[in-house]
Amino acid sequence: MDVINPATGERADTIEAHTESDVEAALERASAAFETWQDEPIRKREELLAAAGDVLRENKREYAETMTREMGKPISQAIAEVEKCAWVCDHYAEHGSAYLEADSHASPPGSDVKTVYDPLGPILAVMPWNFPFWQVFRFAAPHLTSGNVGLLKHASNVPGCAQAIEEVFRQAGYPDGVFQSLLIPSDLVDDIIEDERVKAATVTGSGPAGRAVASTAGDQLKKSVLELGGSDPFIILDDADIDDAAETGAWARNQNGGQSCIAGKRFLVHTDVYDEFLERFVDEIESLTVGDPTDEATDIGPQARADLMDDLHEQVEASVEAGADVLTGGEPMDRKGAYYPPTVLTDIPEGCPADSEETFGPVAAVYELDDEAAIVAKATDTEFGLGASIWTTDRERGRRLAREIDAGCVYVNQLVKSDPRVPFGGVKASGYGRELAREGMLEFVNRKTVWVE
Ligand code: NAP
Repeated sequence: MDVINPATGERADTIEAHTESDVEAALERASAAFETWQDEPIRKREELLAAAGDVLRENKREYAETMTREMGKPISQAIAEVEKCAWVCDHYAEHGSAYLEADSHASPPGSDVKTVYDPLGPILAVMPWNFPFWQVFRFAAPHLTSGNVGLLKHASNVPGCAQAIEEVFRQAGYPDGVFQSLLIPSDLVDDIIEDERVKAATVTGSGPAGRAVASTAGDQLKKSVLELGGSDPFIILDDADIDDAAETGAWARNQNGGQSCIAGKRFLVHTDVYDEFLERFVDEIESLTVGDPTDEATDIGPQARADLMDDLHEQVEASVEAGADVLTGGEPMDRKGAYYPPTVLTDIPEGCPADSEETFGPVAAVYELDDEAAIVAKATDTEFGLGASIWTTDRERGRRLAREIDAGCVYVNQLVKSDPRVPFGGVKASGYGRELAREGMLEFVNRKTVWVE
């Protein structure tokens, strides 16, 4: 597997992929590991997870540099990502047992009925490159702690991250086979899901990957969780704090080079504050530093792969051809590496790519809308439903509108983010199931009813 550094376009590393017999051995190890891992006291599993958090903190710069080299994440954001992974480890190390405590029911007289939570076995996690540590730890922290074992199929452009994550668990003292990275292409995923030793699958990635994994898992009657794309609305109402909305909106769209499923992508602005917001928003966007991702001062590095930047630019070109205006950015940067500048489009025609597709890069589509009803209609007029952000100084109005928007989460006066304490996931083409908090942990357990007379 060739690692191409997107900041230079040059090969940074070559990592040997696993063969079919390596995969077979890994499945056997996973299955054997589950037999003992599921019976470990949960306290022991929590202690190991806390140790994994420590390993992450001790080696954060090394892991961050691997991310930066493989997918171009600015180093300061990469370090923050490793710290967030340590946080999710701490969270489940502290709360895992409580989340898995048996639930009592209003039992019929003379009986005692409880739901208990048993692990399922080896779970396959198909993961993307954009948050190459966070997405994996968001899966692994709860599900290893509940007694499952993990098999990671990471994106093909981040094999060094996949190896490093396996090493985190090894260094923390996890038994052999409890967490393994499979360095394989995506066309081997179906065979793994079909293998009887694998009990469930989760995918974080694009719609096509989600559909492929879900249909194979469905065919095998295996549970799946899908965390897919989004084209999230970032709503600015007429009573919003415009400075705050513009500053946070610029970051919500552009952090991680705009390559985030929950980035604000469509900015829906009330006509009364449209001009003021747009001016502030463009100022904020133009003040972001684009450059070398190894530089601590960089806000936006290269796009993760040159082909993905080309796809993004095609979406911008097609939107402009359809009638959209470019206020800033809009052309790949004239320098070595996959650099695309933060871009703002206005006058977005209905159905053009910036309107109807996910743009996975630093491209903001800004709309002027007449009133609240038009804003809610536009917010929901998308195949996706991941996370929406609403800006208003009236919190009750924010709460009310949150109920009207079809999305897995709605944040009022805050950008959408995933947080270990809070369930995360989407509806519609953004997927199904939840990660994080207790809800996430209970996705891959057998909720077993035990009735004792
Ligand atoms: P991607 O191309 O779908 O890849 C994601 C993972 O799926 C990779 O490991 C990939 O392997 C694998 N894959 C691709 N096609 C597959 C198939 N037919 N069967 C099985 N596995 C397959 O997505 P990406 O470009 O890496 O990530 C960007 C997408 O992820 C965006 O749409 C983004 O919104 C979404 N995302 C969602 C969330 C969320 O929490 N909802 C978070 C982050 C990203 P290869 O690399 O080997 O192709």
